[in-house]
Amino acid sequence: ILKLKGITKQYGENTVLHGIDLDINKGEVVSIIGPSGSGKSTLLRCINLLEVPNEGQIFLEDQEVSYRVNKLKKLTYSSKNKISSYRSQVGMVFQHFNLWSHKSVLENIIEGPIKVKKENKQEAIEKAKKLLDRVGLIDKINASPRDLSGGQQQRIAIARALAMEPQVMLFDEATSALDPELVGEVLKIMTSLAEEGMTMVVVTHEMKFAEKVSDKVIFMDKGHIVEVGTPEDVFYHGKQPRLNSFLNKIQ
Ligand code: ATP
Ligand code: MG
Repeated sequence: ILKLKGITKQYGENTVLHGIDLDINKGEVVSIIGPSGSGKSTLLRCINLLEVPNEGQIFLEDQEVSYRVNKLKKLTYSSKNKISSYRSQVGMVFQHFNLWSHKSVLENIIEGPIKVKKENKQEAIEKAKKLLDRVGLIDKINASPRDLSGGQQQRIAIARALAMEPQVMLFDEATSALDPELVGEVLKIMTSLAEEGMTMVVVTHEMKFAEKVSDKVIFMDKGHIVEVGTPEDVFYHGKQPRLNSFLNKIQ
């Protein structure tokens, strides 16, 4: 469903991603692990075109996503795939939630569907209610994100991304900013999404979670994919010394 070919990203002289190839099938859960600075966030940001790769191609459902940078270093797109419509198909959840704090929970969720997908307001509200129910926060529909715990804010951020009915969901350390007792409630929702067949790319430090839900685990180091395999392969039969020393350090 999502295919990357030769994705390379440089910041000045510094090459952060070295020709990343990745193939993600529909319904697959792919976890990305690796040391700090290995390029995990940059890779997700390139997939979502929050960063523009210097080289490489992205395909969503076999359609190439045409992007390029103009002379002013602005991202431009072919008329076929507009940035907003591409992004609505590739939902992203960030470490720091990124909710609009001056808007209510409901407004946060319906904004995208109404503005980007041109849904009618009543339909968007009905859908938002279902999603809030699913993340267990229907009683917070009129609350301000400021009055919610981190775990609750992250569950709202997930509901907001789902409201766009994406084909793929990207999670960048969605639980890293949370107090330990709030991590579980977010992982539970991610697990249920995985079980329902959502295609997911998950950058995480939660190795137990990665082991349980992933079809495929990717270990990145210094901008390269160093090892790919089933959770069993990567966590118990890793061949790369760099992988094993990483796993030893975090356990
Ligand atoms: P972490 O586990 O700490 O989140 P990561 O694997 O997500 O790390 P990235 O954030 O992708 O790593 O960063 C990869 C490299 O790219 C790092 O060396 C970082 O300093 C560099 N980098 C990231 N963003 C920028 C930027 N906007 N400008 C310059 N360098 C950047
Ligand atoms: Mg990161």
